Amino acid sequence: MRKRYQTLVDLDATAEDRAASADRGLRWLVEQGVVRPETVAREAFRRCGEHPPGERWHTAVAPSDGEPGDGVTVVAVGCVFDGGPLREPEQAWCPHCAGRLHLLPTEGRAGPGGRQPWDRVKDAIDTWVDTGRAVLACGHCGRDGDLTAWTWEGNYFAFAHLGFEFWDWPELRDSFVEEFARVLDGHRLTVVRGSV
Ligand SMILES: [Zn+2]
Repeated sequence: MRKRYQTLVDLDATAEDRAASADRGLRWLVEQGVVRPETVAREAFRRCGEHPPGERWHTAVAPSDGEPGDGVTVVAVGCVFDGGPLREPEQAWCPHCAGRLHLLPTEGRAGPGGRQPWDRVKDAIDTWVDTGRAVLACGHCGRDGDLTAWTWEGNYFAFAHLGFEFWDWPELRDSFVEEFARVLDGHRLTVVRGSV
């Protein structure tokens, strides 16, 4: 069955402090009654155990008729958080000039060496996963843009060290996301939505 997720991605956690930030965030979620402290067994495709919804899960979500179908998974590794295999971004925007990079394979749009834009993006992602740093060149201004600073259609990608995945939860409340960011030392949070 199809599962939706909303991942609160911490854009400022580093490889050094991600474990401490993960602990702080989880402790607050437990204190607020949003999740339970224990983890339960996961389904095969998940990466980690998940925390079931707590008694006050409703304080985290916008008013709706729905309730959480599943728990919250804390992912504290260098990770490409994305919107899942059922959609993919068709465009991205340069962090320097806001010039648009078309990602769909199209004849005539191949770059140097006949390579498609998406191939260049994949190479940059591989480099980021391997080294924690990568750049993607812009065809408009000619400058290298930090991969993590590019804007992706539908907020499809976030390259980061910490994410809290809410599985099959109703839409998270804006004020909850803002409060959670304060708990995480004012780190920037972005919400990546997707389904598998
Ligand atoms: Zn540019």
